Amino acid sequence: MSSAELYINLTNICSNWSALNSLSNGSAGAVVKANAYGLGIKEVGISLAKAGARDFFVAIAEEGVELRRAIGHGPKIYVFSGHMVGDTSLLKNFNLIPLINSAEQLAFHAENSADQSIGIQLDTGMNRLGMEGAEFEAIKDIILKLNPDLIISHLACADEPSHPMNEKQLNYFNAITDNIDCKKSLAATGGILLGKRYHFDMTRPGIGLYGGNPYSGSKNVVGLKLPVIQIRSVLPDETVGYSNTWTAKKITKVATVSSGYADGIFRCLSDKAMLYHDQIPCNIIGRISMDLIGVDVSNCGENPDHLWLLNDIQSIDVLADDANTIGYEILTALGQRYNRSYI
Ligand SMILES: *Cc1c(COP(=O)(O)O)cnc(C)c1O
Repeated sequence: MSSAELYINLTNICSNWSALNSLSNGSAGAVVKANAYGLGIKEVGISLAKAGARDFFVAIAEEGVELRRAIGHGPKIYVFSGHMVGDTSLLKNFNLIPLINSAEQLAFHAENSADQSIGIQLDTGMNRLGMEGAEFEAIKDIILKLNPDLIISHLACADEPSHPMNEKQLNYFNAITDNIDCKKSLAATGGILLGKRYHFDMTRPGIGLYGGNPYSGSKNVVGLKLPVIQIRSVLPDETVGYSNTWTAKKITKVATVSSGYADGIFRCLSDKAMLYHDQIPCNIIGRISMDLIGVDVSNCGENPDHLWLLNDIQSIDVLADDANTIGYEILTALGQRYNRSYI
């Protein structure tokens, strides 16, 4: 079999959630948008609901439908994009709570689903989603009559604890929601680490559940094991891979493993990242191809029959640094060809 194996540790996801829930002043929800950051919204959702998560967040209504089908009734599911045209029957039939982002969305909701619960998303400076302060003030009375379930906003710079934007957004959120008797939520993973003033009634961790920075206390969640298809000896001055970007200086044992940039192993990792034979690091050599990668296994002693790209030594953030990106992108890019094992 030459399909690579992606191991997803649901036990560690649940233990990361419990740790973040304990760190939170109120309770922690769970952000499972983008197929639970690429790891499987069904499997992750079911495990977290069993572990005690009662509030889930998705990006779009369709994700909420998939989650509701998996976890059944009980937990609340909030939709960041709010109530869009075409969402009405999904929100109603699957009991999803739209986080209303504008006066326009509120009017649309009132016309189509007046009796359905809503939450409110406020923009406190990120200028991405949510009502701005003035817009909120103008329709606040109407909103409060609807008895919103939750009021949220999102921090732009929470991964940089000393960034002045954090305090600025906190103060603004406090100012516009002061005296409102409703559950509030401001902090994602980074915000939880900023301290209790940022927590309000509910936190919304995503990446921290899946083993990524900035939550350095999180347990690793993914392992990625790539099968070796072929091993050869390459002589001095011979080259490996497309465009001859790597030339052997000495006799080198080269393994070709199954997987490539079509599986989310970014081509910019060529000549940078390592694969691991147990604890032994092995350099990627030459260009990463669509489905194949060349690896120097000269130091391995025996011929390995597989090598690890993600493990406890090389986490998603180590790989992200090599690729000049963030762990979030490494996770959500993980391809669909892997054989997925949930442990
Ligand atoms: C993605 C997202 C989160 C989760 O963020 P993490 O950094 O992954 O913890 C929380 N809230 C909103 C609005 C988001 O878009």
